[in-house]
Amino acid sequence: MAIVGRPNVGKSTLMNRVLGRREAIVAEQPGVTRDRKEMPASWQGREFTVVDTGGWLPQGSGDNASMDAKVSAQSEKSMEGADVVVMVVDSHAGITGDDEGVAGRLRGRAGPVLVAVNKVDDEAHEDLIWEFIRLGLGDPFPVSALHGRGVGDLLDAVMAVLPDEPVGATDPDTESEAGAGMVSVSGQPGADHPMVSVSIVGRPNAGKSTLFNRLIGDERSVVHDQPGTTRDAIDTVVETELGPIRFVDTAGMRRRARIDQATEYYSLLRALAAVDRSDIALLVLDATVGVTHQDQRLAERIDGAGCPIVVLLNKWDLLDTEAREAIALDIDHRLHFLGDTAVLRVSALSGKGLNRLLPELRGVIAEYRRRIPTQAVNRVLRDAQAAHPAPDGARVLYAIQGATDPPTFTLFANRTLPRTYLRYLERRLREAFDLGSVPVKLRVRRRSGE
Ligand code: GDP
Ligand code: GDP
Repeated sequence: MAIVGRPNVGKSTLMNRVLGRREAIVAEQPGVTRDRKEMPASWQGREFTVVDTGGWLPQGSGDNASMDAKVSAQSEKSMEGADVVVMVVDSHAGITGDDEGVAGRLRGRAGPVLVAVNKVDDEAHEDLIWEFIRLGLGDPFPVSALHGRGVGDLLDAVMAVLPDEPVGATDPDTESEAGAGMVSVSGQPGADHPMVSVSIVGRPNAGKSTLFNRLIGDERSVVHDQPGTTRDAIDTVVETELGPIRFVDTAGMRRRARIDQATEYYSLLRALAAVDRSDIALLVLDATVGVTHQDQRLAERIDGAGCPIVVLLNKWDLLDTEAREAIALDIDHRLHFLGDTAVLRVSALSGKGLNRLLPELRGVIAEYRRRIPTQAVNRVLRDAQAAHPAPDGARVLYAIQGATDPPTFTLFANRTLPRTYLRYLERRLREAFDLGSVPVKLRVRRRSGE
């Protein structure tokens, strides 16, 4: 169990509490550099190791823009090796830029993460925890590391997601089972949500089948066929670290089951039908060909359907340096409307680069399913309107996030808001809540009597 978080939130105090003795050094000043500490601990008869990653953020850090540079390699490593990560935040301080930076990295991680909201010293402060849902890491746990309050519940939750065998077990079966079991953390994919559906789309010959077979080729994935909705569509359910994922319409992609020779037009129709049934689309581009007109059309249609996209630039192995630079420009130019959609450079044939796919999917799913507290939504809209009011006295009076998947906000306004202004508000919401590449919908309601 790795304990992470920005300085001064109470990581060492929590570690002491978990260890039941004063092993770690509690520092009064933020950012005192400490070595990584690993300590044996136990809870409910279960032995485990606690890792304090105290040196994650050095002194003086404030913005998360240069987060990458600040992350110490050692802390990163201890986090990566952990079966469960507990991110500690400070209930008094609220969410800081550094917290967001830490959470951003953790959202990309393929394993359970629990958020401990520390310094909740009494019941009266328990409401403070809900703000931290915005970190996108599931329901937070209120704790007081200093007084021990709530730490038992936190450890119960940690036990629930730890693998059955002690850390370091070499039996691969145990490990893969543990991996699959790790998914049912609150707020993470697989908990109270239906199975995530993913479609793999792209032009013929882009490498979709190669990619798919590579994804299911992992010995540990358990693959089931499921009938799709149309007559010849077959979906494949694959067990992953994120829980079961349904790959939509994979009839033509399974080994030995190629029903190839699809025309471009037919493959486009088929792709759109698959996208309709998906939560996320993987758009496979042939990097040796570049971004074609059809790729553009497909991307537009997927985006328009409100489906988040992850772009895979495939056959990266075939490109020389010059071609690699050229295609980066091509992407910027022709797929600019996708905003900061992730573009992964991969080789489906060799598997290179594909290790980044699951973490990326996890991030997109978390963003897609994120629920933002009403108070925070209204704070952002209030600030946005103060900075740049709408014309003719138009005003958003109040707003809520009416739906997730994708995030949909209902704005109650005193009169019609111009489209350009709505786009401005959308941008501000997107930035404030780090919604990345996920489509965001705004609905406007006129409030009666105004
Ligand atoms: P770290 O640097 O993030 O590991 O944080 P520390 O464990 O050194 O704690 C930072 C400060 O927060 C210290 O002054 C602690 O005494 C204080 N602190 C830690 N946990 C709690 C808590 O549950 N309640 C309160 N009120 N203070 C706490
Ligand atoms: P699909 O029509 O989109 O399903 O494409 P396929 O998966 O059938 O791939 C088309 C061709 O590209 C095949 O000959 C693959 O071996 C080849 N291919 C796919 N991915 C890669 C890759 O990453 N690198 C290289 N060099 N070839 C690839």
